[in-house]
Amino acid sequence: MATTVTAAETWKAKADNLTYRAEAFIDGEFRPALSGVTFPCMSPVAGQRLADVAECRSEDVDRAVVSARRAFEDGVWSEASPATRRRVLLSLARLMEEHKDELALLITVDMGKPISYSLREVDSAIACIEFYGEAIDKVFGEIAPTDVSALALVSREPIGVVAAVIPWNYPLLMPAWKLGPALATGNAVVVKPAEQSPLVALKIAELALEAGVPAGVLNVLPGFGETAGAALGLHPGVDSVTFTGSTQVGRLFLKYAGDSNMKSVSLETGGKSPVIVFQDTSDLDFVAESIVNGIFINQGEMCNACSRVIVDNRIREAFLERVVTKAAEWSPNDPFDPATRMGALVDETQLKTVLSYIEVGKQEGARLRLGGAQVLENTGGYYVEPTVFDDVSNDMRIAQEEIFGPVLSVIGFQDPADAVTLANDSMYGLAAAVWTRDVTKAHKVARALRAGNVYVNCYNEDNMSCPFGGYKQSGIGRDKSLHAMEKYTQLKMTWINLDR
Ligand code: NAP
Ligand code: MG
Repeated sequence: MATTVTAAETWKAKADNLTYRAEAFIDGEFRPALSGVTFPCMSPVAGQRLADVAECRSEDVDRAVVSARRAFEDGVWSEASPATRRRVLLSLARLMEEHKDELALLITVDMGKPISYSLREVDSAIACIEFYGEAIDKVFGEIAPTDVSALALVSREPIGVVAAVIPWNYPLLMPAWKLGPALATGNAVVVKPAEQSPLVALKIAELALEAGVPAGVLNVLPGFGETAGAALGLHPGVDSVTFTGSTQVGRLFLKYAGDSNMKSVSLETGGKSPVIVFQDTSDLDFVAESIVNGIFINQGEMCNACSRVIVDNRIREAFLERVVTKAAEWSPNDPFDPATRMGALVDETQLKTVLSYIEVGKQEGARLRLGGAQVLENTGGYYVEPTVFDDVSNDMRIAQEEIFGPVLSVIGFQDPADAVTLANDSMYGLAAAVWTRDVTKAHKVARALRAGNVYVNCYNEDNMSCPFGGYKQSGIGRDKSLHAMEKYTQLKMTWINLDR
């Protein structure tokens, strides 16, 4: 325990010494918003103000898009050899490694997740940048089959100016999932981080410049969705939008594209991911542990959180007892303590949303088995207990709507044939899981689940080679893997007549 306290104090001391980049990053320089306006960037750890950040609006968006367009057209990056782009991205990954503690602290102070998890987020972001750096000089175009009188080349070219609009829950990893493939393929990018957590994205801009990403190729505009975000969505100079966030705002980006220049839009949106637990599962302790991890990690503020468990009634009580015991180990605590598993929710609005859904669950007749309350109020931060509802039916709001907080809904089934129907009865289709020892059943159910990411006898396992994204209203397109490079490039066919 003593070591943990000391470690927490060390992290806190480092946090006190952080300096923040709070201006917009445009054309290789940090500058205030043209209006001079700023907004307060708050920490949910103890409710304190961290910095006054430039509030970019449409005029700043214009400036950034012009700078990105110029950088794209002059070819300094878009026409650089793939080996050059590889070296720069690998050098960015090395700089991120060198600044790992600082990046992790920026995540923790700005959005409240525990420091151990922020360090993991930095590791994942580094792995992502490395993956695309390594990939870019190893992907080839195609030669289409033709008769001998022609040569048909199929090549991929960068799209141009890409706007990346980012949520607050993984303020470094989400930009990395966009920047890795977008920059590797030669585009110029304008990033709009979430208003709740802009600081780490601004730091990445600084590191990218140091690594050799030319001025204008990466721009970061802190600001609000309704102004800066909408201006990017509607801008005629933006060729493509890559968005991660809520389904509701994702829909707006489709509309913006239709109302402006038909820019391509890829969306990674919300989820209400089901886990089916069959009676023949092997080890209920392990299942419970995995599910508790899958819902409470990142305070439940995770797009693919397993927020709906669909469990055979014959093992439901045994399963719930284990879930409740293990979930109790996730009580929120000091985010600077490396032993802490659950930190603060991102802000007061999110706190209120989560608490109001807990009330909805009670009113709908679900049975509260654990948690349900705000805690650590004396810190000034926003903490909610791990919360478990039993006796949930799939038509309740707590089973259908994304809560984006530490709330698990447990739904029982009588007839195993109903399990997949219940799992698929959702507007979302981001992730799903099945637990069973029967390999045939595992394959059949995995195939029947309408979700972009399916886990069998585990949850939230993957690596950079695996695509990530949703079916139905969980999104359009995929992040991660070589497939992500498809959305930042367009196909060109060149037919060469060999007879003339
Ligand atoms: P959000 O409210 O949709 O915001 C996402 C981004 O869109 C923010 O930068 C936001 O700016 C901007 N925005 C908001 N309103 C806008 C508007 N009217 N026009 C243009 N842009 C606008 O989502 P969030 O609360 O930050 O993040 C949580 C959501 O992200 C959850 O639904 C979660 O499931 C989803 N998510 C999905 C994935 C995935 O891979 N599928 C991963 C992570 C998160 P402001 O910050 O100013 O509001
Ligand atoms: Mg913040």
